[in-house]
Amino acid sequence: MTFPAVRAIGAAMSKRTLPEEAARRRTFAIIAHPDAGKTTLTEHILLAGGAIRAAGAVRARGENRRTRSDWMKIEKERGISVSASVMTFEHDDKMFNLLDTPGHEDFSEDTYRTLTAADCAIMVLDAAKGIEPQTLKLFEVCRLRDIPIITFINKLDREAQDPMALLDEIASRLQLDPSPIWWPAQSGNRLRGMVEMGTGRFQPYARKEAGAAEDPDHPPALPLSDAAEYFEQGEQEALIEAAELVEGGYKPFDVQAFLEGHMTPVLWGSALRHFGIDELLKAIGDWAPAPKVMKAKKEAPPETRNAPEPEDIIVQPGADEVTGFVFKVQANMDPNHRDRIAMFRMASGRFQRGMKLKVQNTGKALSVNAPIMFFASDRELADDAFAGDVIGIPNHGVLRVGDSLSESGMVRFAGLPNFAPEILQRVRVRDPLKAKHLKKALEGLAEEGVTQLFRPELGADFIVGAVGQLQFEVMADRLNSEYGLDSMFEPSPWAEARWVSGEKADLDDFMGKYRPQMAADIDGAPVFLAKSSWETGYVGERFPKVAFSRTKERG
Ligand code: GDP
Repeated sequence: MTFPAVRAIGAAMSKRTLPEEAARRRTFAIIAHPDAGKTTLTEHILLAGGAIRAAGAVRARGENRRTRSDWMKIEKERGISVSASVMTFEHDDKMFNLLDTPGHEDFSEDTYRTLTAADCAIMVLDAAKGIEPQTLKLFEVCRLRDIPIITFINKLDREAQDPMALLDEIASRLQLDPSPIWWPAQSGNRLRGMVEMGTGRFQPYARKEAGAAEDPDHPPALPLSDAAEYFEQGEQEALIEAAELVEGGYKPFDVQAFLEGHMTPVLWGSALRHFGIDELLKAIGDWAPAPKVMKAKKEAPPETRNAPEPEDIIVQPGADEVTGFVFKVQANMDPNHRDRIAMFRMASGRFQRGMKLKVQNTGKALSVNAPIMFFASDRELADDAFAGDVIGIPNHGVLRVGDSLSESGMVRFAGLPNFAPEILQRVRVRDPLKAKHLKKALEGLAEEGVTQLFRPELGADFIVGAVGQLQFEVMADRLNSEYGLDSMFEPSPWAEARWVSGEKADLDDFMGKYRPQMAADIDGAPVFLAKSSWETGYVGERFPKVAFSRTKERG
């Protein structure tokens, strides 16, 4: 596996203004049901973008990393990717930041958080399966956050569903207007290529010959009327007819409707056969939005005396001050160091190495001397970065998911959600002398966002919450390998956790009556632990002035 040298990014950029730098960024994530081809597509996008030279690199890179860390063994055994990362590459004068999201459903919370840092999402569908349960869940998060979606229908090299049926499913189940940019000429063994709507350009598909070592290059595109050699009897005419029908039957692509979340451009291909990938990358470059203007509050750190009232502000990506937020904290990327890497998504400014940034909610200042840029080919030190970019900030637990950082320390972004866990377990250590260690370790993992931690008001046990069972396994493994703790997870009496809020008098009344079921989360926020969803409904009716919430937005 070889990588091209990647130029230090600062050198190439000095001539552009701040707004120009922001405008050429495309920060996006891929959402897919497991097995739809997200990993393969990631790799082929990096290939198309010139960031890697050989297929197999993404997987190999992952494996390489996995062997270095114990808890990653779980990933390897199960063949799933647990941790999300970022891959940055420059192509066609644009900077692409691909946010990798774990596919396994137990890690959906992590995925949801990563989506808070994305400006656009690529929805990958398996052409034989269409929309699957996880696609739907992820789509809902994108809709909630107004993230526009480009659809890529993958695995055309296999027998696919009827293309119109696939588009109808998008329209009916997602309430989203599909606008085909290309139209496939059959699938599986009869896949001939695809035709571009509006231009009639035909992109032929070259099949790998039996016994050949590598996939052939696909021939250059040409007018469909000149492409007879790529078809068998009657197929070309049928495609011309189908294209006319499709052009009349679906709305033409409208960028504004796409950006507002009403329309999705639909592209087709085969990630595995590198078909349709250049077209997809072009669509991302042309249509995916540049970093957005963001709403925030200007607010002094909490301990400031006589602080003025918080003020609503608008953060322009091209503004001078460096601002942004932490959407993920990743531990032990390098197991030789007990370090944590906070993934910082920039909202504005020009970040330069050595800069001092302040955390809004604690007022702490930190000098970022060794920021990490996640170039697809390797991790490199960043010289400078702009709105839309993600940099890794090494720290020792100072930075938490949801923290806002800025030069002034006064800018606060809200809206990074915590999701109510679906499984609540009690955790203990076999050696009672290590109970204190356990507390520290659990807090560390909760700060990273691996699992959620609830401290009941009464009793000494910790309750750990997760979205799926696998998270507990990852956690037990990490407690063992990183903290030397032999832990036990046991069922707890609790089925659901809800953040509670309301007027003080109403809250006090409720909490007084339900003290044995009250707990505090990692930030000290009150949480009601219910024995069943029936009970959640029951208390909700009994205490209508108290809000019981499934999500908590930090900040
Ligand atoms: P993920 O779980 O979404 O990351 O999916 P992967 O990228 O790991 O792909 C799942 C399986 O589908 C793997 O065996 C891939 O080789 C295969 N696959 C991915 N893309 C294609 C494609 O375009 N055509 C075919 N035939 N197989 C594909």
